[in-house]
Amino acid sequence: MFVIVGTGAGGGILARELAKNDVPVTILEKGPYIESKDAFNYYDKYSEDVDLLTTTCIGGATIVSMANMVRALDNELHEYGIDLTDAYDYVEDLVGVHQLDDSHIGKGTQAFLDAGHELGLETMKMPKAIREEECIQCGKCAFGCPVDAKFSGKDFVDEAVEAGATLICDADVKEVLSENGKVTGVVYIKDGKEETLEAEKVILSAGAIGSTLILRKSGIDHVGEEIFFDPFVSVGGYLKDVKFNTEVQMAGLVIGENFVLSPHFSSFIRANIPDDTVTDSDILSIMVKTRDECRGYVDENGDVVKINTINDIRWLAEGVATAGFILERAGVDPTTIGSTVYRGAHPGGTAPIGKIVDSNLETSIENLFVCDASVLPVSPGKPPILTILAIAKRLADYLKKE
Ligand SMILES: Cc1cc2nc3c(=O)[nH]c(=O)nc-3n(C[C@H](O)[C@H](O)[C@H](O)COP(=O)(O)OP(=O)(O)OC[C@H]3O[C@@H](n4cnc5c(N)ncnc54)[C@H](O)[C@@H]3O)c2cc1C
Repeated sequence: MFVIVGTGAGGGILARELAKNDVPVTILEKGPYIESKDAFNYYDKYSEDVDLLTTTCIGGATIVSMANMVRALDNELHEYGIDLTDAYDYVEDLVGVHQLDDSHIGKGTQAFLDAGHELGLETMKMPKAIREEECIQCGKCAFGCPVDAKFSGKDFVDEAVEAGATLICDADVKEVLSENGKVTGVVYIKDGKEETLEAEKVILSAGAIGSTLILRKSGIDHVGEEIFFDPFVSVGGYLKDVKFNTEVQMAGLVIGENFVLSPHFSSFIRANIPDDTVTDSDILSIMVKTRDECRGYVDENGDVVKINTINDIRWLAEGVATAGFILERAGVDPTTIGSTVYRGAHPGGTAPIGKIVDSNLETSIENLFVCDASVLPVSPGKPPILTILAIAKRLADYLKKE
C-alpha cells in the first residue's frame, strides 16, 4: 500500500497517476471534503507572525488558487539531474494550460497589458487552467470557484478515487513509522483517536510547513531550517469606473528579472484612499511578487520566522517601482497610488532537493518521499503549482517503474 499525505498541488496528481496505473493508494487529508465554492471557509494562517495563507481542505491551496500556470526553475533543477520537459508537456495538456480568450480579458487587465507593452516590458496574457465556457468572470477565484471552472487538486483526487484509491479526510498525520531505516506505516488522528496504517511507501505532500512537522517527528534532521515564501504586495490606485474588481484576476503577466507583476484587485487599496466616493469598482491594482532568498525557518511550534535580506528588499522595490509606472501609464491617478502590507504567497524550500531529499525525492528513510513545495531548492518567484505538478508526475513515473 502507498500512502499519500495531503491532496494539494503535489498529492492530488500523484494519487491520480498511481491509482490509474493500478497502484494501491490510500490518501490521508487533514481537512474535509468540500465543494470548491465553499473553499473560502477553510483558509488557515500558517503562522501568527507572518501573513502567509493556505487552505486546509481537499485540494489544499490549489482550490483557492488563481489557476496561474507558469514553468519555472528549469536551470536550477537541471543542476540536480532533473529534466522536467516531458513532465511539463504532460501536465500542461492534462490541466489545459492556455492564455484566456479575449472574451475573458476585462478593461483593467487590457489597460495593464497595453501599458506593459508601451513601456517595453516583457508582457503577456497569463497562462491559466480555466475553462472559459464555464467561467462566469466573477473575479472570485481566491474564494473557491462557484462554478468549478478552474483546475484544483480536488479534480485529481476525485479521479484517483474513481480509479480505486481510498480517501480518508479529516485525518491529521503526525508521524511516519520506520524500522531499520525503512518505512512501515503512518500515525494519524481522526475523530480524536490515534490510528495507525501500515504502508510500503509514504509520500508526504502536506505542504511546506505540514511536511516539515511530520518529517521532524519521524526522525529526519535539519528540516525547515530554510524557507522561501515568494513575498508580495499589491500596488494600486484610483481609475474611475474601471470595474476591475469583477474581472478574471491575474489574467496578465509582466516578467522582470527578479519579480513578476500581475493585475490583481485588492480592497485594501481602496481603504488607503481618503475619499468616500471611491468604490471597489474604481480601483486598478497590481500584485508584485518577487523571489526571495531561503532565509528563515519553521520553529518548533510550526510558526514561520522569515528573515528579509537586502536582496529581498531590493527586488521588491524594483517590482513596486515598475508597477507604479504601469499604473500611471494605464491611467491611474498617481497621487492615489498606495500599497498593501507585505505578505507571503508560496511557502517552500523546507526539505530541499540535494539536502533533505535526493533527486528522486526520497529521504534518508527508505521509501519515505516528499512531493510538494518543500522540495523546491530555491524560490521560483513565480506561481509554483505547475512546477510541483511536473515534479509529482516525474515521481509517479519513477514509483510506477519501481
Ligand atoms: C489564495 C492563493 C492563490 C494562489 N494562486 C496560485 C496560482 O494561481 N498559481 C500557483 O502556481 N500558485 C498559487 N498559489 C500557491 C499554491 O496554491 C501553493 O504554492 C501550492 O498549492 C503548494 O502545493 P503543496 O502541494 O506544497 O501544498 P498544498 O497545495 O497546500 O497542499 C497541502 C495539503 O496537505 C494537507 N495537510 C497539511 N498537513 C497535513 C497533515 N498533517 N495530515 C494530512 N494532510 C495534511 C492540506 O490540508 C493540503 O490539502 C496560491 C496560493 C493561495 C493561498
